[in-house]
Amino acid sequence: MPCFAKVSLFFCSITIYGATPLFAQSDLDQRVAKEIDSLVTTYKHIHQNPELSTQEKESSALIVAELRKLGYDVTDHFGQYDSPGLVSYGIVGVLRNGSGPTVYVRTDMDALPIVENTGLPYASHVKAKRADGSEVGVMHACGHDVHMSVFLGTARMLAQLKDRWSGTLVLIGQPAEETVGGASAMLRAGLFAKFPKPDYVLALHDSSDLPAGKVGWHEGTILAGSDSVDITVRGYGGHGAAPQNSKDPIVLASEIVVALQTVVSREMDPQLPTVVTVGSFHAGTKHNIIPDEAHLQLTVRTMNPQQREKVLAAISRIANGIAAAAGIPPERAPLIEIAKDNVPATINNPELTRRVGAALERSLGKENVLPSEPAMASEDFSLYALADPKPPICMFWLGASDPAKFKEAKEKGARLPGPHSSEFAPVPEPTIRTGVTAMTSAVLDLLKK
Ligand SMILES: [Zn+2]
Ligand SMILES: [Zn+2]
Repeated sequence: MPCFAKVSLFFCSITIYGATPLFAQSDLDQRVAKEIDSLVTTYKHIHQNPELSTQEKESSALIVAELRKLGYDVTDHFGQYDSPGLVSYGIVGVLRNGSGPTVYVRTDMDALPIVENTGLPYASHVKAKRADGSEVGVMHACGHDVHMSVFLGTARMLAQLKDRWSGTLVLIGQPAEETVGGASAMLRAGLFAKFPKPDYVLALHDSSDLPAGKVGWHEGTILAGSDSVDITVRGYGGHGAAPQNSKDPIVLASEIVVALQTVVSREMDPQLPTVVTVGSFHAGTKHNIIPDEAHLQLTVRTMNPQQREKVLAAISRIANGIAAAAGIPPERAPLIEIAKDNVPATINNPELTRRVGAALERSLGKENVLPSEPAMASEDFSLYALADPKPPICMFWLGASDPAKFKEAKEKGARLPGPHSSEFAPVPEPTIRTGVTAMTSAVLDLLKK
């Protein structure tokens, strides 16, 4: 395995890192090296004990205990979900260290309903019950276990290095990222009002598209916004042999599905990625009955709020227009519901992101910090940027693939299993080491004396 530590320490001994004093970088590398075995042990423990969204009881307790031991002022069980009675396992750990800005660092904590298929000695065999009572396999298939381990490492580093920074550090453990309720639960409970107001909010996410030892960043939009739309197309049912006496909602819904394909291809700027997918179409019970209704379920992905409004308006216009053209009266117009738990696009504040990128280059070496491309996946990290006082946010990518396997896959034109795959297997040691060094360096830069 190419050893990141050796490379980094080697560079430290001969290279001046911009504004970072040489001894300081070497000191950080040595401190991370001292903690890495214990962090990897913790990682494997968390990986073997994954918990579904909103059920992160033990993961949260583990982080709370460690932050308290390190001297953070910790509030646990923080957050207020939409559904009453649902307990939030959110964590807020505050470390005050003199005057200066306030930096938030966020980790997520939840795992996915996937049966792990990595064959790793520390693979998860956990099964859990979902809210509907069904039993599912549980796996940290999005690498939130990597995020938690890096988060704990960063917490240790910044507690040890208090003489090198000034300001306030707020570490937040967020539940329910995968089901998109956790960030809003913490914000609803008054995260930015009850705790110091953020000047910056940082996070990282692991990636199989980068080898371990490298990080990637991109300013502006990095992840798409996501909306779920339900359309109930209402017609007038009747006998299948007498279509002249009915308004067939199956034909109407079919026309709507086809016409929706023109939203992306004919109405949107081709430079701006957009997705409109009809993922579900249900109607009818029998061959010879024209039903009263047809139901469509759509996912919509957009990169900014204006584009989102435009796409949602086009969907509504097309559905209503086709119904009207078929002679459906206004009182039977399609019912269009946009789910409340939509996630906006994740937009990295350009100024903050450039500053973080420069700090990462100084700390990891320029060759280990790469430009990255936006993706159409979504994250509720985006919500922190929209809550008052609308702080600048930055999420960067942490390479998690085994470098040798990554190289081999690239040469073959193949891709390694990534997040949400049952075979996603981040390589723990260099990934966590790089993550802790990167996140600590970014915070030290924002809170430098
Ligand atoms: Zn995920
Ligand atoms: Zn994730």
